[in-house]
Amino acid sequence: MVIAVDFDGTLVTHEYPRIGRPIPFAIEALKKIQMEDHHEIILWTVREGDLLQEAIDYCRSRGLEFYAVNSNYPEEALVAKTAPRKITADLFIDDRNLGGIPDWGIIYQMVHNGTHNQAQWEHSTMPEERKKKKKIFGIF
Ligand SMILES: [Mg+2]
Repeated sequence: MVIAVDFDGTLVTHEYPRIGRPIPFAIEALKKIQMEDHHEIILWTVREGDLLQEAIDYCRSRGLEFYAVNSNYPEEALVAKTAPRKITADLFIDDRNLGGIPDWGIIYQMVHNGTHNQAQWEHSTMPEERKKKKKIFGIF
């Protein structure tokens, strides 16, 4: 799965253009998702130039390397004349998500367990009694 992840407000507290404070478990969760589940992580941020490099260096110094940065694949900047307006990812992790961004422990569990879809997540965390009732009505 390709996962696009934002930087400011998502991996660090939002203090743009400065690098904010680390958000607990964010980098560690992404490293585990990469190493254990073999998902491709794309850094997707409004940062450009030196500010972008600072974000890349911040992550690299903590052991997180991205599959691509602000592009769909590593060589895209060489092939395409302009960066794409939107990344073709299976999943976006961004502090501007509708409903906000969950805790990184929850994000990790959702991605690792394949319950990142809202309905799958609700079903996986639902008490067994409710699951039985939903089954009766044919929802799952
Ligand atoms: Mg953000």
